[in-house]
Amino acid sequence: MFTKQLIENAPNKHNLFENTKIDKIERTENGFVAITNFKERIYCKKIVIATGYNLDLIEQNLCMCDISYTIITNPLPELKIKNNALVQDDKEPYHYMRLLPDARIIFGGEDTASKGKNIDEKVAKKKYRKLYKDLCKMFPDFADKIRVEYSFCGYFGWTDDNLGLIGESKFKDIYYMISCGANGVINAFAGAKILLDLFSGKENPLIPLFSPTRET
Ligand SMILES: Cc1cc2nc3c(=O)[nH]c(=O)nc-3n(C[C@H](O)[C@H](O)[C@H](O)COP(=O)(O)OP(=O)(O)OC[C@H]3O[C@@H](n4cnc5c(N)ncnc54)[C@H](O)[C@@H]3O)c2cc1C
Repeated sequence: MFTKQLIENAPNKHNLFENTKIDKIERTENGFVAITNFKERIYCKKIVIATGYNLDLIEQNLCMCDISYTIITNPLPELKIKNNALVQDDKEPYHYMRLLPDARIIFGGEDTASKGKNIDEKVAKKKYRKLYKDLCKMFPDFADKIRVEYSFCGYFGWTDDNLGLIGESKFKDIYYMISCGANGVINAFAGAKILLDLFSGKENPLIPLFSPTRET
């Protein structure tokens, strides 16, 4: 919604195609054609691939992928955490926890390596149970009150140096804005500035750090 509003209110108008997946990118004489899941063709001079942890359109092995598991409890208004701090341990696999505004706990982690693309529902269910047990251990006084009301899992991409892949790829005029790593949101902000500077020919010391062609 936020992105949609940004684009709709931008001073120079662009087309926005919602619920449209780019399946394939092909080079043409003058640029590129991006082919959608509806087989529509979008012609352009440059491409920015900003597909989050869907890595289908970039080279394999640039970004590794794990699967991260999350549970969300019922509201527990009596449970207090000092300053509503984010809590994270340094175990392997790790866990993190945060109180939501409606007093539910979001508790996640237990990452597993993603072998291929498919999420294994059996493994996911085991992980949700494990998260629930660990959470009850953390708050023994609340163990009989804690219920899991939502659970989900998804991909989590990372690089060896924990920086995103932002800038021109090894394919001329194809740019990546892949904001992987534990600080993905910060990478995304840095990325917007990096791409802006690259397109307007300004120097930016972050360009080599985030370059998709850097050696890690
Ligand atoms: C479990 C988990 C915990 C995280 N915790 C943190 C944290 O604590 N701190 C932090 O900084 N970051 C964290 N991150 C990372 C952060 O969420 C991401 O880095 C950030 O959301 C990336 O933003 P983005 O706009 O690049 O991609 P996204 O928000 O993923 O957007 C990508 C968009 O591209 C679309 N798309 C995908 N493929 C295609 C295609 N082929 N064609 C067209 N559209 C496509 C998707 O539908 C999506 O709308 C976490 C991520 C996960 C999964």
